[in-house]
Amino acid sequence: MSGSGEGAGPELTAEIAAKVEAFVRDVVAPYEKDPRRDHHDCPSEELVAELKDKARAAGVLTPHILPDGRHLTQRETAVVLRASGLSPLGPLALNTAAPDEGNMYLLGKVGSAAIKERFLKPLVEGRARSAFFMTEPADENGAGSDPSMMLTTCHLDGNHWVINGRKAFITGAEGAQVGIVMAKSEDGACMFLVDLPDPAIRIEHVPNTIDSSMPGGHAVVAIENLRVPADQMLGQSGEGFRYAQVRLAPARLSHCMRWLGACIRANEIATDYANRRMAFGKALIDHEGVGFMLAENLIDLKQSELIIDWCADVLDAGEAGGTESSMAKVAVSEALMRVADRCVQMMGGQGVTANTIVEQVFREIRAFRIYDGPTEVHKWSLAKKIKRDWKAAHEQH
Ligand SMILES: Cc1cc2nc3c(=O)[nH]c(=O)nc-3n(C[C@H](O)[C@H](O)[C@H](O)COP(=O)(O)OP(=O)(O)OC[C@H]3O[C@@H](n4cnc5c(N)ncnc54)[C@H](O)[C@@H]3O)c2cc1C
Repeated sequence: MSGSGEGAGPELTAEIAAKVEAFVRDVVAPYEKDPRRDHHDCPSEELVAELKDKARAAGVLTPHILPDGRHLTQRETAVVLRASGLSPLGPLALNTAAPDEGNMYLLGKVGSAAIKERFLKPLVEGRARSAFFMTEPADENGAGSDPSMMLTTCHLDGNHWVINGRKAFITGAEGAQVGIVMAKSEDGACMFLVDLPDPAIRIEHVPNTIDSSMPGGHAVVAIENLRVPADQMLGQSGEGFRYAQVRLAPARLSHCMRWLGACIRANEIATDYANRRMAFGKALIDHEGVGFMLAENLIDLKQSELIIDWCADVLDAGEAGGTESSMAKVAVSEALMRVADRCVQMMGGQGVTANTIVEQVFREIRAFRIYDGPTEVHKWSLAKKIKRDWKAAHEQH
């Protein structure tokens, strides 16, 4: 697999997306009320395994990577991941969920043949889960919005690297079989592939969080004298952030794609409610206040789709897309927050119950405004670029 850029073409993409959408609506959505949840209210491993088996049997598992290893282009991925996101369980069932989807993309792009065979293959086949270890506890002033503050260290000892430190918010660390761990050597940031579980990587605790779609939750982890064979480093010592960049923009965009799907479905549910529910002698939709909320949702959803496609085209053209993916992440996460909030509001008391996915989607989007770069951090980096461009333009004169 060589990552984005090869593609399936429009006809096959449309066929895959239609199959994915039908599977999510007909097979996955009925599981939304399934009580099998872990102790952090995330779907249990048993539930996810059952859904994956069904997706495998239906030929829709890992639909963004073709059987011959070709990855869909970003533009094609947008259509398929949006369809997989129509239920919060969809990405788990279809193997398009974070962090696996971003990790598969990274390994497909930069992994050696040996790394692909050992670590990527089980992920693509949906036989393993993975976790990405970058963020560190805020109380120690470790890496957060500013990854350069990384405190986790690594040093070479014979033909092994030895890693020590603590990590926080590591999605799916509990239950994962593949880990991508970031640490700092004398040369700078480094990225390692590790087998999990490993006694040197201890789950300290998994805090309860506002979201509940990602199995394993978001763990705080202690890494104590973890020994990793030198050939399990991705790239060279000091190249870790360069490799993280490969994953960053596409992974950011794929969150936008999946959550757009979830908000399209939440809006369908709210639209249905607004058409059926009566108040003051007429359907809610006929009250201007509600009709306007639905109209604004339609606009926010379409704008989100368009900015995702625009950014996808930039990535497909081979550009890094840092600026474009920052713009898309801010625009989409903020627009979807408005959409989810309006859906809750239009549905009155029903909106805050777990009777529909609307309540969960609202909670998920709240968290999405923070991970993969909080809104303010993206705006801050855009402002720096605006200043750089201004200076460059004025220095020429
Ligand atoms: C649900 C969830 C899942 C996650 N999964 C993972 C994972 O799997 N792996 C992983 O490594 N990390 C993960 N993270 C961590 C995530 O990447 C960090 O939360 C994020 O980078 C912010 O870091 P922080 O929480 O330390 O916030 P801080 O760095 O403490 O920032 C707090 C706030 O300060 C503001 N701020 C910061 N910098 C600036 C600036 N330059 N200008 C203006 N305002 C600013 C922002 O409003 C920001 O929200 C996850 C987080 C969440 C919530």
